[in-house]
Amino acid sequence: MATLLLDRASFPRDKPCGGGVTARAASLLPFALDTVVESAVDQVELGLRYGRRFLRRSKRPLVLMTERKRLDAFLVARATDAGVVFRDEVRVTDIELRADRVIARHGTKATVAGAVIGADGVNGTTARRLGIAGRRRHLVALEADIAYGPIDPSDYERRLVLELGTLPGGYAWIFPKAGHLNVGVLTWERNGADLRNHLQQLVGRLDIAPETLENVRGYRLPLRSPGDSLTRGRALLVGDAAGLVDPLLGEGIHAAFLSARLGADAVRALIAGETAGLERYAGASLFALGRPAAAAWAHKAALDCYPRLAHAWLRTPWAWRIVRRTFQQEPGAQLTDPVVPRVLGRISRDPGRPYRAEAERAGFAAASTLHEGGRHG
Ligand SMILES: Cc1cc2nc3c(=O)[nH]c(=O)nc-3n(C[C@H](O)[C@H](O)[C@H](O)COP(=O)(O)OP(=O)(O)OC[C@H]3O[C@@H](n4cnc5c(N)ncnc54)[C@H](O)[C@@H]3O)c2cc1C
Repeated sequence: MATLLLDRASFPRDKPCGGGVTARAASLLPFALDTVVESAVDQVELGLRYGRRFLRRSKRPLVLMTERKRLDAFLVARATDAGVVFRDEVRVTDIELRADRVIARHGTKATVAGAVIGADGVNGTTARRLGIAGRRRHLVALEADIAYGPIDPSDYERRLVLELGTLPGGYAWIFPKAGHLNVGVLTWERNGADLRNHLQQLVGRLDIAPETLENVRGYRLPLRSPGDSLTRGRALLVGDAAGLVDPLLGEGIHAAFLSARLGADAVRALIAGETAGLERYAGASLFALGRPAAAAWAHKAALDCYPRLAHAWLRTPWAWRIVRRTFQQEPGAQLTDPVVPRVLGRISRDPGRPYRAEAERAGFAAASTLHEGGRHG
């Protein structure tokens, strides 16, 4: 099977992103990221509104810190090593679905393929052209870099900081990189106008003059709504194009890797004639990501409504165990609903419920397919 990868940017390209690859995301790749990792974080400091705080440690790395420019160029190189043909500076402008093929138009040219994977991010063309952009909600983040010098790198060695209760629907972060700190703030899109003030507040807490900030940039993070479609005909969406960002953390790389893997499996089966469509991708993705998304929505509601209580809960050994196991994706572990956040989530009308129901339906459908397969085969 021949694979063509098109990207409108000129590579290597940067992208607004903290570049934090959780251990669970890295574990989905068939190769190590060592050559592009600048710091392996195994300590998390959780602050509440720049006041009360605590530090937790793990024996194994929780998050690998990289730069998107380096990471994405590395991923493209691994893809081309595996035989993928890569063309950058090619902007896809339209996608046309036929019963037996897909036509991707770019400028005056067109590519004909057996299937298409839309991995073109939050502002991509594919979802809109296919009519499956859905009813996405958006978070928005503003980030910047601070070169070491005024800040001592050893203060943040192997440690990231999350400041909770500072912004509705989000938080402020400090990530350690090789030559600088990456700092940022995340909130609901409707609160986007306040981001600059919040970033200045964060920088002020570090005793850094705002003029010292470099590469200040903002971008949206898409959150799919329950029922939003992931496929149409011979096309499917992955990552941000599908709105798969984790609503609690704003983590999108894990879902992008996972959905890409499931999407590639489904396309391979379609092209090999093993399946007639890509529906199996939608079911597998919703099953794998739906329950963690439901739990993340409940935690987000709890954090938003009761930041003090949520911070106090996170301080407990039980909560830290769940957080650690989620970041590291220990077998069988995910951010499922522990009692306290579930109760808090319920009080705040449990926004995760429809995602949970969708995941359960996807699981039920997958189980029935297996059962059918077992009966006939
Ligand atoms: C400020 C900020 C900080 C973040 N920090 C983190 C973090 O630390 N950890 C984490 O896990 N997540 C983080 N995220 C989320 C993460 O960046 C995204 O979820 C992730 O990049 C999604 O990957 P993707 O491949 O789906 O999309 P993208 O990384 O956006 O890639 C989409 C690609 O499609 C190309 N493209 C777009 N349109 C077209 C077109 N028409 N034709 C051809 N090519 C096209 C683009 O050039 C781009 O290369 C952050 C997001 C923001 C905004």
